[in-house]
Amino acid sequence: MLGSFTCTSCAEHVWNTKHFDVPIADVNLSVLRSPGSPSTDAAQFVPSVPFVDGLLDGALVDPAGIICEAGGSVLLLLCPPCKSALSCSKLPQFSLANLNVLGSVPPELSDLTLIEELIVACCHAKMCVVKLQDHHDDVELPTAQ
Ligand SMILES: [Zn+2]
Repeated sequence: MLGSFTCTSCAEHVWNTKHFDVPIADVNLSVLRSPGSPSTDAAQFVPSVPFVDGLLDGALVDPAGIICEAGGSVLLLLCPPCKSALSCSKLPQFSLANLNVLGSVPPELSDLTLIEELIVACCHAKMCVVKLQDHHDDVELPTAQ
C-alpha cells in the first residue's frame, strides 16, 4: 500500500517505503535543539518550537513525525538522510533545526501559478525543470539529416 509520512527532522513528506521508526532514546536530541538564542542574528529566523517541556523540549521538529505508542514509548519517523546524520549525532542538512523552515503559505497565496510564485518570491530556486514532449514525430526539423 502506497502512502507517505512526515520526517520529524526535515518535515519532508516521504514514501512509506523509505522510513525508519527510531526510538527517541536512540537519538541525540541536542542536535535538533533550536539554534537561535535571543542574542544571535539567527534568532529572527527561528520559528517557535513545538514542545516546551518533556524529552523534546526545545527541539525544532515536526510533530507530525512523532508516534506516541500505547506503552508510553515514543518513536521518531525519519527519512534516510536524516536518520543517517542523526545516527552520527550530526545535524541533518535539511532539518528544521538547521533553519530550513519556510513556514506556512498564507491563504491568499495558496492558489498562485508557478510564474506568480516566482514574481512574488523573496528568493528563487536556481533551477526548475519543465519536461516538454514532442508528440509530432512526423515533422522534419531543418537540423535533421
Ligand atoms: Zn528528514
